[in-house]
Amino acid sequence: MSAIDDLPPLREVIARHGLAARRALGQNFLLDLNLTARIARTAGDLTGADILEIGPGPGGLTRALLAEGARHVLAVEKDARCLPALEEIAAAYPGRLTIMQGDALEIDPLAHLTPPVKVVANLPYNVGTELLVRWLTPPRWPPFWESLTLMFQREVAERIVARPGSKAYGRLAILAQWRAEAHIVMRLPPGAFTPPPKVSSAVVALTALPAPRYPADPAVLSRVVAAAFNQRRKMLRASLRGLAPDIEARLESVGIAPTARAEEISLERFCALARALTPPR
Ligand code: SAM
Repeated sequence: MSAIDDLPPLREVIARHGLAARRALGQNFLLDLNLTARIARTAGDLTGADILEIGPGPGGLTRALLAEGARHVLAVEKDARCLPALEEIAAAYPGRLTIMQGDALEIDPLAHLTPPVKVVANLPYNVGTELLVRWLTPPRWPPFWESLTLMFQREVAERIVARPGSKAYGRLAILAQWRAEAHIVMRLPPGAFTPPPKVSSAVVALTALPAPRYPADPAVLSRVVAAAFNQRRKMLRASLRGLAPDIEARLESVGIAPTARAEEISLERFCALARALTPPR
């Protein structure tokens, strides 16, 4: 029995179901249920929400989400070895936990979720950034989720919340901050996980804005930002030359010096540049 529910401690669950961590699946488990409860609480009030959890593993965060009152949790796990342990949690919370076995990059969970939806996950590091980019670039905005509360390697977390002028500032910061509020809400040392990863981790909270912070066509903005940061040491007049023959004039028209470099340019100015490069309809 643990501090947050009547289920056995996670070490016992792992031993009983033979869940030795596999590196290839990014398995670094959180076994301290007080810590998983703290992470669950950073996602705010869960009582009226459906939660999408990717990679529940032996279920430490899943149990915290349910104990914190989540209306319903949909947990997508690739490793079939974890299913019996997750079924035990489902039995302890009747009707509130649905388990899907499969690869989160291939499964479409939307049909199983009722809004409002929050995503909360201690993500497998090998697929974390890919999933985040997908959640940030849906065909329509606002997206299916109202918030994302996600564990990343600290270096990735810092790229998500980075401000202009820093080394971490780049495509991920612009993608995240254009249509969401993004903050680091918790930092965790390697020793918080079993087995400990090589790097520190951090939890990032992203809240979807009802509309983008500044108007821009998503595809044009994405092209501009990709070209600018692909050659981040170059001046923008060189790195963006392929986007328009008169790129210097277009940069100047939105107040950007053609000699500036990508990492100095604010999100607002990147959006203005995207508008200046969007052909009129
Ligand atoms: N949530 C658990 C915890 O906090 O202890 C486990 C977190 S562990 C960092 C990542 C989990 O994601 C593992 O259980 C792993 O099997 C699972 N996983 C890895 N790749 C996956 C994928 N493509 N789709 C779904 N789950 C995946």
